[in-house]
Amino acid sequence: MQYITILGATGSIGVSTLDVLARHPEQYSVYALSAHSRVAELAAQCLQFRPQRAVVGTADGALELTRLLRGQGVATQVEYGVEALCAIASAPQVTGVMAAIVGAAGLAPTLAAARAGKKVLLANKEALVMSGQLFIDAVHDNGAVLLPIDSEHNAIFQCMPHAHGRAPGAAGVAKIVLTASGGPFLTRDVETLDTVTPDQACKHPTWAMGRKISVDSATMMNKGLEVIEAHWLFGAPAEQIEVLIHPQSVIHSMVSYVDGSVLAQLGNPDMRTPIAHALAYPQRIASGVAQLDLAQVATLQFERPDFRRFPCLALAFDALRAGGTAPALLNAANEVAVQAFLDGQIGFRQIDRVIAHVIETVPHGAASSIEAVMEQDRLARAAAHAYIAQRLAA
Ligand code: NAD
Ligand code: MG
Repeated sequence: MQYITILGATGSIGVSTLDVLARHPEQYSVYALSAHSRVAELAAQCLQFRPQRAVVGTADGALELTRLLRGQGVATQVEYGVEALCAIASAPQVTGVMAAIVGAAGLAPTLAAARAGKKVLLANKEALVMSGQLFIDAVHDNGAVLLPIDSEHNAIFQCMPHAHGRAPGAAGVAKIVLTASGGPFLTRDVETLDTVTPDQACKHPTWAMGRKISVDSATMMNKGLEVIEAHWLFGAPAEQIEVLIHPQSVIHSMVSYVDGSVLAQLGNPDMRTPIAHALAYPQRIASGVAQLDLAQVATLQFERPDFRRFPCLALAFDALRAGGTAPALLNAANEVAVQAFLDGQIGFRQIDRVIAHVIETVPHGAASSIEAVMEQDRLARAAAHAYIAQRLAA
């Protein structure tokens, strides 16, 4: 029996993970679930899956959850706060941790899981983008196993089985090709992007996801974060990572080898496939995803990304090349800018300007410790908020 903690259980990835787990009750047991504010949804999940522990964001939330659970006769122990998140990620009974909190908030508990030597199923790409080598070191030093949930990275992982743990060059890899749908604004007139609404940006053509990652997909910052994620997961330099637009989202990514072979992983765009793959690795389990019908798909299209249409993609490549804490600055500025866009404070085309401003004005340094990374995260957020406030006042 495997005992699973889900960090971010009420989110899009969390719900898909529970869907897969529910298909295999003889193999998986839910040890703990967390949610930030959606207490009623977490209560319903606890009623169904009967975890030993549940964690929410605040003391009030914990009181409310306890009341809901006891009313239904559920004995789940309720806790709140970041320390409790770290505790459910590292408890001795836990075998696997699904890291599915969105953004920098997921770093501490995801790192706690790595430091405790767990099998870490990584959806929370922001945590790895921020902490980079520090996170990879924590995995290696503590015998943890890092399995990518991001569909592209899960695809790459599947396409380079003999390369796990080796430098791509040494394994004969010429190039990693990350596919991207291009999001909802791939063909829209760039001049009209100033007026798009949060709901339009969140209406992804092929994937149903949380709002932050949906906006990231529309700006293609999501792909930029994924380039950095691929760098850390697979040890590939920026020059070896290519982005290719593929609107159907059927090929989840590819690996080109020096002999001319290209391996790809295909499937319907449904996150339950990479989730099931990582849960059962190296075995395979059913995920509930329908078999791919290529005759029905009929056409697969590809094009190179236009970096002028998607400046966030260029900013991310620049941050990767700059190294140190530059990716942490990029990530923090992006989180603030996306939230400001979702809150109606700035327009869609101001997102990349906020990020560029932060990267230009906050000097990056060495990513020498998690504390140094968190300090840069804090400085970047302050600079982003100040810039947005100043523009709003102007
Ligand atoms: P979501 O917004 O649907 O869910 C986020 C979860 O995190 C929720 O359970 C929420 O309660 C929790 N959370 C939010 N803020 C928190 C905080 N401050 N402290 C603790 N918990 C907090 O997001 P999602 O789409 O499920 O994405 C989760 C992560 O997975 C992101 O990093 C995203 O980039 C990554 N990811 C998602 C998809 C997808 O298809 N949704 C695909 C690939 C990668
Ligand atoms: Mg992805």
